[in-house]
Amino acid sequence: MADPAPLRRLAIVGLGLIGSSLARAARHYGMAESIVAIDRDPAVLDRVRALGLADEVTGDLAGVAESDLVILCVPVGAVGAVAEAMAAHLTPGAIVSDVGSVKVAVVQALSPHLAPGIHFVPAHPVAGTEYSGPDAGFSTLFSGRWCILTPLPESDPEPVERVQRFWEGIGAIVETMTPEHHDLVLAITSHVPHLIAYNIVGTAADLEEVTQSEVIKFSAGGFRDFTRIAASDPTMWRDVFLANKDAVLEMLGRFNEDLSALARAIRWGDGDALHALFTRTRAIRRGIVAMGQETAEPDFGRGRSGSKPEAP
Ligand code: NAP
Repeated sequence: MADPAPLRRLAIVGLGLIGSSLARAARHYGMAESIVAIDRDPAVLDRVRALGLADEVTGDLAGVAESDLVILCVPVGAVGAVAEAMAAHLTPGAIVSDVGSVKVAVVQALSPHLAPGIHFVPAHPVAGTEYSGPDAGFSTLFSGRWCILTPLPESDPEPVERVQRFWEGIGAIVETMTPEHHDLVLAITSHVPHLIAYNIVGTAADLEEVTQSEVIKFSAGGFRDFTRIAASDPTMWRDVFLANKDAVLEMLGRFNEDLSALARAIRWGDGDALHALFTRTRAIRRGIVAMGQETAEPDFGRGRSGSKPEAP
């Protein structure tokens, strides 16, 4: 791949964890001559100004004008409305991309609003933390992490390559697949695990008060790790489950079957079945560490990337 070509003007819409990390990374790696930050929340805009994350900061979607790349970093459920409101301001030839955790629904919501001559390249960086807002971002969030592009059959190759070079330029590793395949893969690797975490922490919260305090007091590694995931942004995750309904329900069906098999093994004292599964899953964890997508630290390595944002 050739050296990343810097963009003339990069517009980022939605300056939360992902949008503000993108702004920091684009600046850190010299990916754009100028960066415009657009958000609907005046408090977010104030923080973006104070942190000096962009050359231009505005609440007006007309700010996307003259940008060669516009990246939507808003919750998946807001993508359609934002696309509709900004469409008239896009400059012909511009590339529109996004970072949404679901792809089929985003493609359906966004595509109808883009005029011919505007290129749409959907993307999803598989990187994040349980924190939200512009203060939570950091420039190395995408370093060594996957970014999945889901170009459409009718996509021109040149804009897709440009988006790929952008992500590679800020340290990500790019993989391409269809939106449908993306949603199925992410349902099992990300969406269902979040649902399980929300559920188990919710169950604990529903226990009697005295028991609840014991849950918090004695929360060992297992439960604590679930609480970290279950602290993720409620708006973002509500939108993910509503937008990826079919794939999540399909994977949840498989999960429930396997859980029943585990319950049966416990009921009938089938230690061999339990031991065989736990051995297989331990190997998967080691494989993820070996691929550099996780550290071997016992706290899931979150202290490294999740809890201590670096200076912008
Ligand atoms: P976030 O920290 O909550 O930031 C979202 C930002 O978008 C907020 O400033 C929000 O403002 C703004 N926004 C919402 N609706 C808007 C609208 N209609 N117009 C303009 N701005 C709007 O969320 P995030 O974690 O960065 O997630 C953003 C996107 O990245 C989501 O699509 C998510 O699926 C994807 N993603 C997230 C992660 C992760 O781990 N967090 C990882 C990969 C991809 P308000 O505060 O006013 O709502």
